[in-house]
Amino acid sequence: MKYLDEYRDPASAKKLVEAIRRQVTRPWTLMEVCGGQTHGLLRNGIEAELQGTVELIHGPGCPVCVTAMESIDFAQQLAMLHTTSTNNVVLASFGDMMRVPGSHGSLLDTKANGGNVKTVYSPLDAVELAKRHPEKQVVFFAVGFETTAPATALAVKQAANDGIHNFSLLVSHVRVQPAMEALLQSPHNRVQAFLAAGHVCAVMGYESYEPMVERYRLPIVVTGFEPLDLLEGILNCVRQLEQGEARVDNAYSRGVSRQGNQAAQDIVREVYEVCDRPWRGFGIVTNGGLQLNQDWRHFDARSRFDFIRSLPVIEPAECESAHVLAGRIKPPECAAFGKACTPDAPMGAPMVSSEGACAAYYKWHTP
Ligand code: SF4
Repeated sequence: MKYLDEYRDPASAKKLVEAIRRQVTRPWTLMEVCGGQTHGLLRNGIEAELQGTVELIHGPGCPVCVTAMESIDFAQQLAMLHTTSTNNVVLASFGDMMRVPGSHGSLLDTKANGGNVKTVYSPLDAVELAKRHPEKQVVFFAVGFETTAPATALAVKQAANDGIHNFSLLVSHVRVQPAMEALLQSPHNRVQAFLAAGHVCAVMGYESYEPMVERYRLPIVVTGFEPLDLLEGILNCVRQLEQGEARVDNAYSRGVSRQGNQAAQDIVREVYEVCDRPWRGFGIVTNGGLQLNQDWRHFDARSRFDFIRSLPVIEPAECESAHVLAGRIKPPECAAFGKACTPDAPMGAPMVSSEGACAAYYKWHTP
């Protein structure tokens, strides 16, 4: 198939749904890791179509949603520095982080309260901002999975090449595979197979899942985002489960290779090192993050502004995003869903983000 429309063909989708139904002798529980896949499953009615056959639970694959509140709190303190000290800081962030709640409101609230927050479209825009304003310290809020880490690594290298010293990163990058393992180790785990996130695998490949499959004896199928991609991934998982098999398969070969993107991996290895990192909803995930390594630490905002003290994190009591992000409940099971919490008045990150599970249910789910 060459064109996107071919991956949306209703007749082929129907055949795949029938093939899944024919395979299944008992209900199976699959987790799609990526928020883009959650939206695809709901938007195309796949989740509803497979009810009673395959239960799809939604994983932690929305980078905005899993960014720890403490990182947002720190970003807000940075943005307020220019009002209180000689550190004239501009906090540069992607637009989708602006409405995500921290302990004391969002970055948008910080801006309304006089904080210096600027929306940028890429990390290199933040480098440009630093170039244009040598009198200010520009900090880029670097969030996201392995998909965005190469671009922020590139930005830091660009800043170094251009001799820009008033640029730094508030690194909050997360690594998805350790979070998948954390889910499997949880006493609440219900995941019997994973649809692995196509975008992350496009960068990282899927070789690293092979030992994980051996360890946990469950299928992992690299899956894309179109209806036929999703159904192929589900069918592959179900076939393996029914036959008692457990291996890594690639159902997204037009976007993903076993080794992934070597150039992107090289730049990540050059600039970052693996670290433990708090994830919203997960607590500290062992090896779940990336931080600047010793050679690049002078671009680290936490080191540069080490006089900022982390504040106690305040989670809103009503928001059950910790359970949503770990696949323990579905968004409509949260008492606030669609009532106290809507996309216009979101209480938690999964209702804010365009990839969030709560937003997906609000937009596409018919009860
Ligand atoms: S519906 Fe709103 S309050 Fe409930 S878990 Fe989702 S974001 Fe939190």
